[in-house]
Amino acid sequence: MAFSSEIIGWYQQYKRDLPWRHTRDPYVIWLSEVILQQTRVEQGLPYFLRFLSHYPDVIAFANAPEDEILLHWQGLGYYSRARNMHKAAQAVVSAYGGVFPTRYDDLIRLQGIGEYTAAAIASFAANEARAVVDGNVFRVLARYFGIDEPINSSKGKKLFLKLADDLLDRTHPGLYNQAVMEFGAMQCKPKNPDCANCVLRLDCRAFSEERISQLPVKLKGKASRNRYFNYFVVAAEGRLLMNKRGKGDIWENLYELPMIETPCLMGIHELAGLQEVVECFGEQADLRLVAGPVKHVLSHQNLFAQFIAVDANEGYVSKKMKWNYVFTKDLGTLAKPKLIYSFLKDYMVE
Ligand code: SF4
Repeated sequence: MAFSSEIIGWYQQYKRDLPWRHTRDPYVIWLSEVILQQTRVEQGLPYFLRFLSHYPDVIAFANAPEDEILLHWQGLGYYSRARNMHKAAQAVVSAYGGVFPTRYDDLIRLQGIGEYTAAAIASFAANEARAVVDGNVFRVLARYFGIDEPINSSKGKKLFLKLADDLLDRTHPGLYNQAVMEFGAMQCKPKNPDCANCVLRLDCRAFSEERISQLPVKLKGKASRNRYFNYFVVAAEGRLLMNKRGKGDIWENLYELPMIETPCLMGIHELAGLQEVVECFGEQADLRLVAGPVKHVLSHQNLFAQFIAVDANEGYVSKKMKWNYVFTKDLGTLAKPKLIYSFLKDYMVE
């Protein structure tokens, strides 16, 4: 089919030279694919190299402590992905003797590996004929074929998956998959695609109908909710009070400063009178705003965070709370959300 051969021809001429393109090791491909779902190539590359140097194979990854994996993942967001990777690595060790599977049907059973990642690993590592459909592929197909079915509706997903499967080059599925993804990333970009120099231009529906900026169509997701986090900076003799977050909310098992969430943004005086604050730091605690409020956007939540220094009377801090003092020199060994990492970086310098 002209589409596939044009795309493969373009790829062979213009592809970027990236380290994971020189291997068929499914473990290495898995690392790169999961990291690249989080970030762009330029930002993901140092993470990929760091993970590979610390954990050269899946057994080393499986045996690492979770805290250490979260620390290496710090800054990428979606920490559940790192936790799922750890569980998947442990399953590879226990169920496959440490040999990373390459069959789609085995891969899809591993924690955190969905249809896209399973198809990518199976086709890149073992040339299994599975079409990958990521954001880049959705965009190229929607534009080239002029499809305005929303890519995130169930009807749209089925339609695009079927089309991707029909277009798949069954002799070179790995090569074709990489080609179409790279074409979307480099040529048919979300904004300002390079249509003037595009090998598909003559047959591209979006181009001929001047609908490039309208495609692909995506249904709006649910609205984000606002949350108000009050972080307390309690320092004592070169140590800082820290909290390890629990299950059931964002940032599971990551470290942050002691935090009290309020239903709206509160001023310092209002906060000082809040029963929860009094219970934690005593009635005479002196509160002082040191930073914020800063807005931190997550996928479905907007966090408004303020940072408040606390001078608790006679070192009063409620023992009810599971907070622990950590030497400031050791803070770098704790995995923290970006919001906390950035605050501490600035605050500790001052
Ligand atoms: S002509 Fe433009 S919109 Fe069409 S495939 Fe090429 S880069 Fe994408």
